Amino acid sequence: MKPAERVKSIDLSGIRKMFDMVGENSINLALGEPDFDTPIHIREAVKEALDEGFTHYTSNMGIIELREALSHKLKNENHIEASPESIIVTTGASGALYSSTNAFIEEGDEVIIPDPGFVAYDACVKISGGKSVPAHLKDENDFRLLPEDLLELITPRTKAIIMNSPGNPTGGVLEKDDVKGLADIADDHDLILISDEIYEKIIYGKKHYSPARYSDNVITINGFSKTYAMTGFRIGYLTAPPELVEDILKVHQYTVTCATSLSQKAALAALQGPQDEVREMVSEFKRRRNMVVERLRDMGIKCNLPHGAFYVFPSIENPEKLVEKALEKDVVLVPGNSFGKYGEGHFRISYAASFHDLEKSMDRLESLDL
Ligand code: PMP
Repeated sequence: MKPAERVKSIDLSGIRKMFDMVGENSINLALGEPDFDTPIHIREAVKEALDEGFTHYTSNMGIIELREALSHKLKNENHIEASPESIIVTTGASGALYSSTNAFIEEGDEVIIPDPGFVAYDACVKISGGKSVPAHLKDENDFRLLPEDLLELITPRTKAIIMNSPGNPTGGVLEKDDVKGLADIADDHDLILISDEIYEKIIYGKKHYSPARYSDNVITINGFSKTYAMTGFRIGYLTAPPELVEDILKVHQYTVTCATSLSQKAALAALQGPQDEVREMVSEFKRRRNMVVERLRDMGIKCNLPHGAFYVFPSIENPEKLVEKALEKDVVLVPGNSFGKYGEGHFRISYAASFHDLEKSMDRLESLDL
């Protein structure tokens, strides 16, 4: 039996491969999920919904209360005018990304993606029949996707751009002018700009800007996994220009029908409930980031100070060797080339692990003979 070429060409995520190597005593710094518990009021809301028997299909787009709450959130926090009719509740940001790319990419269309970047971008573009064009995010630019660099990659076949700030795997955060510049390019060249804002709240001393406040050509993607430690709920959302919503909905509807009913209730509770646990989580992430960066620099490893997300992306001559040696000491890291060709020469540490485990891991890395 022969699989489709466009699927065959996709690698299974390098991060997943690292998971297979996790031993019982390993410290796993390969994980892209918060180590915190989902706040209790969110879990209580699910119990309540379950007891009320809220266990059936919902509208394909998602329950109206949640889409109304999201519409307010987008207006108040992101300066995006998005009516509930232009919002689709999805199975995580992953579902939002998949439905979006499949709705508008034609065979052979080019989509510019950040490199190093989140592994799903290249995969979703390829599954949709498109071709991804990597935009090199450089250490010296703090891994920002610069509008001038992007311009050089645009061809007559370019259909879309994917941006991600704060970014995985680098922790890079775009400045206001970068975001404005990218939005202008989308307008000038009539391109769709997909903005993955899943780490918007996990940001240190910088401000998050959404390109949809500057351009109508934007699909904004977000989710609850990171901000509220809700990875297992599989709940996210998107808002798109009106002329694309219906087609995105077709893909969403014929793949998942609707997001899980109980997870939608959980998401509503997350939006409407207290936000202090989010602030506490971010402040703990910042403490860990500072410690990890300082320890790595003390070891002579070059490492940018990331301004968002929960990853550091240091550079080193032979990251494969480091990752292998670290594994022998039961510390699981991810080699940078798992995130694209320009991730070469780097490795990723997720600091979504306890301070204590991170300190232990730094001790073990320090003891390596490289
Ligand atoms: N975008 C980025 C940049 C991510 O890092 C992740 C998760 N690792 C996702 C999207 C997917 O998140 P979700 O759990 O909402 O599908």
